[in-house]
Amino acid sequence: MYGSRGTYRSEVGLKCPNCKVDLVSAARHKITVQTCPSCKGMWFESQQLEELEDETFDFGEHAKGTLIPSSSPTTLKCPECAASLRRFQYRFYDLEMEFCENQHGYWLANDEDTRVLELMRQEEKDLQRKLRVEDRWAATLRRMRSGTLLERLRERLH
Ligand SMILES: [Zn+2]
Ligand SMILES: [Zn+2]
Repeated sequence: MYGSRGTYRSEVGLKCPNCKVDLVSAARHKITVQTCPSCKGMWFESQQLEELEDETFDFGEHAKGTLIPSSSPTTLKCPECAASLRRFQYRFYDLEMEFCENQHGYWLANDEDTRVLELMRQEEKDLQRKLRVEDRWAATLRRMRSGTLLERLRERLH
């Protein structure tokens, strides 16, 4: 499933749910994600990387109540299984994104990514946090890719 790392091409042949063009592997906030060269959206494949939740940032408390237990269907299709993606809100960062109910991953639009970073920068200024916003955002993205968040989402929605 994971072939030669570092090649700038799609390794799994996924298509952008938005534009239908091939997604390409790219480093985003130090994490390899599948991005769309056209609309700059990002697809996060679900991975079993639960240990990363402990990295950089303690999500233990934030994990509680960060999700609004509702979601709405969208016209976007999962790049892996073609199921309709559902939109939900990740409350901690006031972030909307789509996920596959079959736990394949998340879709995040480019402007959402930028907006969250701006929100974090503002928060950093206000609270004078030590952690760099890029590191925190990277940790959040890693956490999204862990299987646990998708499992929690499923539990909330069913
Ligand atoms: Zn696209
Ligand atoms: Zn899927």
